[in-house]
Amino acid sequence: MKYDWIFFDLDNTLIDFNIASKKAFFSLMDSHGIPRADALYPLYQQINFEAWKDFEKGKIDAITLRSRRFKDFYFKTGYKDIDPLESNSTYLSFLVDYTTTLEGAIDLLNHLKGNVKLAAITNGLKEAQRPRLSRLNLTPYFDAIIVSDEIGFAKPQKEYFDYVMKETNQPSRENTLVVGDSLHSDIQGGNNYGIPTCWCNLFGQINKTGIVPNFEINDLSSLKALL
Ligand SMILES: [Mg+2]
Repeated sequence: MKYDWIFFDLDNTLIDFNIASKKAFFSLMDSHGIPRADALYPLYQQINFEAWKDFEKGKIDAITLRSRRFKDFYFKTGYKDIDPLESNSTYLSFLVDYTTTLEGAIDLLNHLKGNVKLAAITNGLKEAQRPRLSRLNLTPYFDAIIVSDEIGFAKPQKEYFDYVMKETNQPSRENTLVVGDSLHSDIQGGNNYGIPTCWCNLFGQINKTGIVPNFEINDLSSLKALL
């Protein structure tokens, strides 16, 4: 094995986010008797995206992030009496329930376990990230788990990777591989830090960013050949 450590992103790399998030969102709508309409989810996604962007720029804190995405959504859709913070909790608990592993993830982790050390490097909220790993019985595969919301830094920030390096006992960067689906957080983060990167492009994204990974895979089983 060429590498001592693999730093795995979780959402849309090893575990599904897209399907679980949509199901969780509509279960939340159902719980408030809001009729299911196709346009609601893209609206929520846009608002959520803007809220995360402001959070990443330091304009809002983590508590405001939790309430704002639903507060703005209910404001725009006219359901102003629903408690946004409570909706956030309900959504996250549905998200935990609905999350599944992506195709080939368990097989890959079984192949790697014992041959290389594994860290989970994930941007997300603490109510969701470890509970989802635990529900999917994935926790024992990882020698380190670093959740952005728990430490106050997020990929691609240098401080996030400093923290990961400390948690993994400062492995040599060239013998470490970052694997993730996000060019802006995973690949840019690894590139900036001098760690080789593998873009896990499972959903046929087109790279228009100018951010260049060392490797690209289109299914998880292909990672084995790179190691
Ligand atoms: Mg991801």
